Amino acid sequence: MADKRDYYEVLGISKGASDDEIKKAYRKLAKKYHPDVNKDNPEAAEKFKEASEAYEVLSDGTKRQKYDQFGFAGVDPNYGAGQGAGGFGGFDMGGFGDLGDILNGMFGGAFGGGSRQSRQNAPRRGESIRKSIMLSFEEAAFGCDKEITIDRVENCEECGGSGAAKGTSAETCPTCHGSGSVTQTQRTPLGMFQTQSACPNCRGTGKVIKTPCKKCGGNGKLRRSRTLSVHIPAGIDDGQSIQLRGQGGAGANGGPAGDVIVTVGIRPHPIFTREGSDVICEIPISFTQAALGDTLQVPTIDGKIEYQVPEGTQTGTVFRMRGKGIQNVNGRGRGDQYVRVNIEVPKNLTDKQKDLLREFEANATDENHSARKGFWDKVKDAFKGE
Ligand SMILES: [Zn+2]
Ligand SMILES: [Zn+2]
Repeated sequence: MADKRDYYEVLGISKGASDDEIKKAYRKLAKKYHPDVNKDNPEAAEKFKEASEAYEVLSDGTKRQKYDQFGFAGVDPNYGAGQGAGGFGGFDMGGFGDLGDILNGMFGGAFGGGSRQSRQNAPRRGESIRKSIMLSFEEAAFGCDKEITIDRVENCEECGGSGAAKGTSAETCPTCHGSGSVTQTQRTPLGMFQTQSACPNCRGTGKVIKTPCKKCGGNGKLRRSRTLSVHIPAGIDDGQSIQLRGQGGAGANGGPAGDVIVTVGIRPHPIFTREGSDVICEIPISFTQAALGDTLQVPTIDGKIEYQVPEGTQTGTVFRMRGKGIQNVNGRGRGDQYVRVNIEVPKNLTDKQKDLLREFEANATDENHSARKGFWDKVKDAFKGE
């Protein structure tokens, strides 16, 4: 256990090395000590294993963090659990993630079969297009229909996407027999390697077009500007999206079209704010309205509604108006409206108004101001003897 080397030391990099530096360092060592190059050399095999293990940990952000913090014990559950030196119990060559990719990049796909290589003539989904639109508060609350303009790739209508002129069709490539790729055996300083690459005759498509379609130049695709109508459901909220399935770019080799994803932004309303499907509105009232009670004309998204504010209403009181909020976007039912009343203390008083208030204050009793009385009673208790 004692002779296990620090991962950074193994790769010959500093603690602060970037992902790129880690990759480069590993690639260099892997090339040098790869078993294919060092047949019957146990020392090289050990070095290769050591470098692979270091790379496996340091190239993974989470594992690297754990390693930095706790050392080997942070990344290998068997470490310190009585297992002898050299026990790489936590590491399995078969489980390596992008190790195979790196080696494929290095040895031209010979490592691990290269089965992950995506074939150029395989069906591919078309491009998805993202678009954002701004709505008013009401448009989002009640829903609406909008038009958006997008640029998308479409199949050429002249040739139906084949790229071959009318009356002709694309033919199977004679070089690759339609597979789109060719296999070459290469002799390199590292040995013999089989390399799969895109067929140069058909550029990987597996098909050749003798007479290209005039409209699309043999491409089979055209870029077009289209106006689509989008139905915005009632209750949609800021940041939510609508997906228009299959309205994006045309797919390749018979693959499905992409989608159009429309993300909604909502402009602020002068008096309403929104929390989910509830509407919040703050209304200033005078202290006489609050003291005596009053009938308010409360604005809602459906128009004004009379609301009776009771006598002795305190500032900050919130009234709930059931079902006066916004339609729930996912189903039936509406949210509520919450009305918060704020008492406005009058300013710019005339002499006459001041006299009236002084007269009121002179006649006020503890029953009028129970909170004020309660507070000063507590002060009296707390500061006894001062
Ligand atoms: Zn065409
Ligand atoms: Zn070909």
